[in-house]
Amino acid sequence: MTAVAQPAVATRGPLDDAHEQLADACRVLGYDEGTMKMLAAPRREVTVSIPLRRDNGDIEVLTGHRVQHNLSRGPAKGGLRFSPHVDLDEVRALAMWMSWKCALMDLPYGGAKGGVTIDPAGYSEAELERVTRRYTSEILPVIGPNKDIPAPDIGTDERTMAWMMDTVSVASGYTVLGTVTGKPVSLGGSLGRASATSLGVAQIAFAALNHLGMAYDATTAAVQGFGKVGRGAARFLHLAGIRVLAVSDAFGGVWNPAGLDIPALEAHVDGTGSVVGFTGAQPIDNAALLTAEVDLLVPAAVEGVLHEGNAGDVRARLIVEGANGPTTTAADAILAERGVLVVPDILANAGGVVVSYFEWVQANQAYWWSEAEVEARLADRMTSAWHQVLAEAEALELSLRAAATCLAVRRVAEAHRQRGLYP
Ligand code: NAD
Repeated sequence: MTAVAQPAVATRGPLDDAHEQLADACRVLGYDEGTMKMLAAPRREVTVSIPLRRDNGDIEVLTGHRVQHNLSRGPAKGGLRFSPHVDLDEVRALAMWMSWKCALMDLPYGGAKGGVTIDPAGYSEAELERVTRRYTSEILPVIGPNKDIPAPDIGTDERTMAWMMDTVSVASGYTVLGTVTGKPVSLGGSLGRASATSLGVAQIAFAALNHLGMAYDATTAAVQGFGKVGRGAARFLHLAGIRVLAVSDAFGGVWNPAGLDIPALEAHVDGTGSVVGFTGAQPIDNAALLTAEVDLLVPAAVEGVLHEGNAGDVRARLIVEGANGPTTTAADAILAERGVLVVPDILANAGGVVVSYFEWVQANQAYWWSEAEVEARLADRMTSAWHQVLAEAEALELSLRAAATCLAVRRVAEAHRQRGLYP
């Protein structure tokens, strides 16, 4: 196999970063251009119109996507995002990263992602249910327990998953529990799924701190995003004795140089819907949080927040990516140059898809595990993946991101090779 050239990029976005990471991995692995093209190309893309009758009788037409990037190792797996920023290229990038994440964690899945371009905060619960059900109906031919299994992501939650599961089940004429993961526990969800991504982020942060010889009680942290991932991550870091000095959400952030009282902050967020206005802290904006004087930074909100404009000002020694794609390729290079250790998303936030896999296995077997069993199996998978990535990085003298991508891409390429090219 001959080495490949990096694809030319005009305007940069998450898909360019995803393509560049794949090209780098193919170069390290010595894959030819045809193999890289096969690994880059999404297997299936579905774009649908979602007509919505608003509560006031008006009709709006929204757009949704489902991209299945790779199906070589098993059914596709990936979240569903409701956000005004969703576009097809973002969904394509997120789907590709899911292929690598599932392969890295050795799950029998390919990668997928879904998105609807909508700001859920502007819609009633009844409207969101209609959007979810219509989107699900439109993508029905391509999803299912053996085809593609959605899960929650930004702007969606277990309630969204319950509506999706019900819509598929009504169309099928029987209850199809394995059709989505991240469902309510009362409806076939797994114990431990709600906190799995954040627990995995924390477990990887602990492994990286141990690797760097940094004591937890001497470590300070900042967490961007206080949703399903960031909030739990802040809680688990706090519980381990790490002082979380700053957290933020889409509305702003809070900062306390002595350490935030995370349980009190969680109570404030439950009451108000935002971290803003928490009395035990001073305000800090999202830009300042990313360059705050802390040891550990956990970006757990959206893509591209660490870029060439601010990577040089990051003061953390360790970045653990709770979000997907928070660090651009340009920022990666600057951070590496400055000796900042970046633990990539496909490893750091993989706890969610690992326990989604456990949920799917449990649903398919109709036999449920205890929370302790789920957490023990999660810890095993996260620790094992951390050691594999570290060993690959040391053996090939690569960054953790490049090492993780190489490991994953190699597994997907091997599945392609074994299956052969049909016809
Ligand atoms: P969420 O909707 O539950 O929370 C998102 C949080 O980020 C909210 O606090 C929101 O206010 C904040 N936010 C949004 N835009 C922001 C901005 N521009 N600046 C600062 N904060 C902003 O979503 P989530 O499920 O926690 O997902 C967060 C990230 O983690 C995403 O990148 C997602 O793809 C990734 N992820 C999620 C899971 C999961 O299981 N939920 C698994 C793996 C990766």
